[in-house]
Amino acid sequence: FVPVVAVDGPSGVGKGTLCQALANHFKWHLLDSGAIYRVLALSALKQGIALDDESQLAQLALNLPLTFDTYGCDVKVLLDNVDVTNEIRTEQTGGAASKVAAINSVRTALLQRQRDFRKAPGLIADGRDMGSVVFSDAPVKIFLDASAHSRAERRMKQLQDRQNHVKFAEILQEITARDERDRNRVVAPLKPAVDALIIDTTSLSIQDVFNQSITYINK
Ligand code: C5P
Repeated sequence: FVPVVAVDGPSGVGKGTLCQALANHFKWHLLDSGAIYRVLALSALKQGIALDDESQLAQLALNLPLTFDTYGCDVKVLLDNVDVTNEIRTEQTGGAASKVAAINSVRTALLQRQRDFRKAPGLIADGRDMGSVVFSDAPVKIFLDASAHSRAERRMKQLQDRQNHVKFAEILQEITARDERDRNRVVAPLKPAVDALIIDTTSLSIQDVFNQSITYINK
């Protein structure tokens, strides 16, 4: 049995940072499932596939030439062997990802690819449905939440660090629209698994969230 820590929550809540820190701490594998949806959306846009073309998107999802290259703590995301690590991080790609992610056949097509990340000694899985669908048998499930305002602030800072110039009002609006789509979709809507620990990170530091998570995992 390979243990999984499932970490879910809305965008900009700090899942990526927490998961990276947990993976480093335990020396476990890391699954950034959002990156898969982002690469799928990017690939569709590049190929001129409409973001609501279910059958073509499901086909693309099954054959997506995506690899994660790890260099120490650094992960590069490759599409067709081209580095798209920065390209997939824009809020536009995030928005496109949440459109393709609302399609049932797309989610089904990506299930096995995500489950294949579960390898010894363990996996930290970052996403929206890690605890509720993909790893519903995970022994530890954590759901991070935070106000839209504080999530937009964090996302703004992240994008600025990557030299993307953005306006706060636009980020807030895009994050809110994306969350509504993620929460209200029919398949795998964003919500805590019944057995998840919910942590509101609005007024917590990264270190606080990390410490609470470690205490919970080690229980
Ligand atoms: O986490 P990230 O912001 O990279 O995810 C981009 C989008 O991909 C999300 O807004 C969501 O619609 C979708 N997603 C998903 N299920 C996951 C991970 C991401 O539906 N497990």
